[in-house]
Amino acid sequence: MARAEVIDGKAVAAGVRERVRGEVEALAKETGVQPGLATVLVGNDPASRIYVRRKREACAEVGIASFHHELAADTPQDELAALLRRLNADPEVHGILLQLPVPDHIDADAMTALIEPGKDVDGLHPVNAGLLMKGQPGIVPCTPAGVIELLHAAGTELSGAEAVVVGRSDLVGRPVAALLVSENATVTTCHSRTRDLGEVCRRADVLVVAAGRPRLVGGDMVREGATVIDVGTNRTDDGLVGDVDFESASERARAITPVPGGVGPMTIAMLLGNAVLAARRRGDPR
Ligand code: NAP
Repeated sequence: MARAEVIDGKAVAAGVRERVRGEVEALAKETGVQPGLATVLVGNDPASRIYVRRKREACAEVGIASFHHELAADTPQDELAALLRRLNADPEVHGILLQLPVPDHIDADAMTALIEPGKDVDGLHPVNAGLLMKGQPGIVPCTPAGVIELLHAAGTELSGAEAVVVGRSDLVGRPVAALLVSENATVTTCHSRTRDLGEVCRRADVLVVAAGRPRLVGGDMVREGATVIDVGTNRTDDGLVGDVDFESASERARAITPVPGGVGPMTIAMLLGNAVLAARRRGDPR
């Protein structure tokens, strides 16, 4: 079989950003509202600092206002909670993003649950997670939404497809599986207790891997003609590598995402989309 088509996440993400820019303009024309996103960073984690900066730059490029709040690493949880409540009440703030991870003394789940569901642009609030499980419109987490966008961009038939998701985190695996069910795929979720990962992966027409284990999935675990989406981003001595062994998997897949340049660029693009959606719905996640 010929080598797989490489799915260009940068190009797909650029298309999404253009679409969002158009939506921002349309919203301003129709309602006079400019979407506003508040970013909250607690502590000094260098990677988080870079992510937040990129998110704010991306907002500026498409015309979304951003309001940045930085709190010291030892900020008491009550203080963070008070800030989130103020942002919930602020009419200029349509979306709130609490950059994770937060320092250990802060309960990330409790803080996420404090954010108004309609402003929860990360889609991690239990109300949004529940709407997703019910197959109802809510705010969908950014990376999983990006995975589905990439599958569509690669022309993957999802209806009736055998889909396998490796990973069951709240952030990626579970929401990806729920979205694939809503796309009418037949979905299997794998995790660290899965008995024979290779055997299950080999059934997949669509294989999404989000395990955080460098090159966990080799070419021998990929079905001929499958579409493979590699969410993994692992820093190793060889640089940034995915959860899929790209070289061997490319020899069997029909289409595959690279790392970097696959799922990564989609996350921020989908966040921008969520911010505009939140501004359009103003307060109601549905
Ligand atoms: P996570 O919370 O650590 O979850 C990993 C999942 O993989 C768990 O469900 C775990 O199973 C499963 N797993 C681990 N080892 C396994 C194995 N050997 N076989 C089968 N399943 C295994 O990680 P995450 O937040 O979902 O992130 C996953 C990866 O995606 C990471 O590399 C992360 O950096 C990357 N990521 C990338 C983006 C992006 O924008 N590109 C965004 C988010 C995450 P158990 O539940 O049984 O422990």
